[in-house]
Amino acid sequence: MVTQKLVISETQIQECVSRLASLISADYKDQPLLVVGALNGSFIFLSDLIRSMELPIQVDFIRLSSYDESTQSSGSVRLHHGVRTPVKGKNVLVVEDIVDTGFTAEFIRHYFEEQGAASVRICSLLDKPIRRLTSVTVDYVGFEVPDQFLVGYGLDYNQQFRELRALYTLEGVPQNP
Ligand code: 5GP
Ligand code: MG
Repeated sequence: MVTQKLVISETQIQECVSRLASLISADYKDQPLLVVGALNGSFIFLSDLIRSMELPIQVDFIRLSSYDESTQSSGSVRLHHGVRTPVKGKNVLVVEDIVDTGFTAEFIRHYFEEQGAASVRICSLLDKPIRRLTSVTVDYVGFEVPDQFLVGYGLDYNQQFRELRALYTLEGVPQNP
């Protein structure tokens, strides 16, 4: 039987989102910003974050894959869908659900630098520094978490559990299928 164990509550998440939104709004002041969500995991975090920010923004999404149906990072990142919004000369803020090995974040950073972004920063709700295999910089971090597989608030296990309002670990599922 699969059971969910609470790790980060809805209140903790909302406080964290407000804190990050204030930081980002102060850093960019009134400068226009292109906010790019990495699908699918970031969609709920991004929705809350942009509604707490006080900035003139554009929003777009990219879709990548590194995990497929398992909980293990493959290290090879594939771009399935890039942004449609022009990037050249813009400040880009990439919104991620979680930075684990860092391969995805590093790939995204290069992708926007190659397109001539004026600046690229990464905001991730969660960070698992112990798992890092790259030297990518994460500019805004919500919570540092230990090496455990989390679901909820946009994060999935086999496309399930994204709708949960808080973050949980799952007990009773294979961690290394
Ligand atoms: P990285 O390229 O940094 O290894 O992996 C980043 C991606 O792996 C995240 O965007 C997310 O999709 C997935 N990932 C890493 N850790 C977790 C986790 O604990 N739970 C879930 N649901 N996805 C994770
Ligand atoms: Mg992701």
